[in-house]
Amino acid sequence: MKRENSELITITDHQEAEKADYYVCLRAADDPHEFPDNMTGFCAQCGVPIIYRPHAPITPKKICTTCAGPKMAADPDWRIFVTPTVAQEVADVLARERRRKAN
Ligand SMILES: [Zn+2]
Repeated sequence: MKRENSELITITDHQEAEKADYYVCLRAADDPHEFPDNMTGFCAQCGVPIIYRPHAPITPKKICTTCAGPKMAADPDWRIFVTPTVAQEVADVLARERRRKAN
């Protein structure tokens, strides 16, 4: 079944984000160093060092992108939720990139 992208990524509030099954984190080795206040931890599944934002939800298991791939492939109903804080941070990074490329 083909779904629209708008159904796959939903902006949610911080309270709802606490109900998620997993919080997908970048592996520390892939850290683009955009955020000096990133927190560090370990993937709940494979134990690799991960980074996450200080405002990340506390309840969901933090897993790395490599472990998230197969879970998403196995679950036909997977959805991505982002908080408004994360959406704004990503928008800011993309805007900075765009300005950097324009100069
Ligand atoms: Zn992992």
